[in-house]
Amino acid sequence: MSALAAASRIEATPPDAGDALAVLRRAALDHAPAVLASSFGAEDMVLIDLIARNALPVGVFTLDTGRLPDETHALIDRVRATYRIDVDVHFPEAAALEPFVRANGVNAFYASPSLREQCCAIRKSQPLARALGGKCAWITGLRRAQATSRRDVAVEEFDAVHGLAKFNPLAEWSRDDVWAYLRAHRVPYNALHDRGYGSIGCAPCTRAIQPGEDERAGRWWWESADHKECGIHRRPVAWVRTRPDAASQPVEAGATEIAQ
Ligand code: SF4
Repeated sequence: MSALAAASRIEATPPDAGDALAVLRRAALDHAPAVLASSFGAEDMVLIDLIARNALPVGVFTLDTGRLPDETHALIDRVRATYRIDVDVHFPEAAALEPFVRANGVNAFYASPSLREQCCAIRKSQPLARALGGKCAWITGLRRAQATSRRDVAVEEFDAVHGLAKFNPLAEWSRDDVWAYLRAHRVPYNALHDRGYGSIGCAPCTRAIQPGEDERAGRWWWESADHKECGIHRRPVAWVRTRPDAASQPVEAGATEIAQ
């Protein structure tokens, strides 16, 4: 059994989701319209479950890069059927993607970090900017424990790149917290987690992890370990709230910028 599969079978006490729910309510009610950016990973499924159970006015969207695994597409349809919610799917612009593929090939991301970043920009960052247009807040499933590049993730911050509030309700949760919640509430999840995948993105850029490896070690495994981001969570931020009950603190521009 894989490490992830073992984690997904724990019978631990589910965490008190009260703080996370309070953050979701604040985003939904004080920063409407708010949206959840979901890649349908384990954390996103916790947030979808909380949003749906509590009928919060939060839209759900995903970025279909054109290279997602079949298992993620299957989960999107399962979420629609289970929760009876809409999922807005945003695709890359053909006018940007087609010339890139023509010039560099379909799997250009393996050739260099620069081409990988260009691919992520076209398939993820640009559609994300479109998805966030006209919104006042976005919500993500980022957690500090996922990777060194995420150790400074705040519960709430102002995303100066996109010009709106950003909420990370699970910033303080552990992987065990996430899986205990999913088990306790019988929440559907991506079948790839049971095959050892810790973090799931595009099929050609994601693989299963080994016991003891960082949760995001399977993402862009051919690149350096501290470079496991695609650019959609690029900072700087203007201010942060590090805990749900803490006061917001100003941040010097660029001081908390993380690797893309
Ligand atoms: S994860 Fe890979 S395939 Fe997906 S957008 Fe980034 S480089 Fe392209």
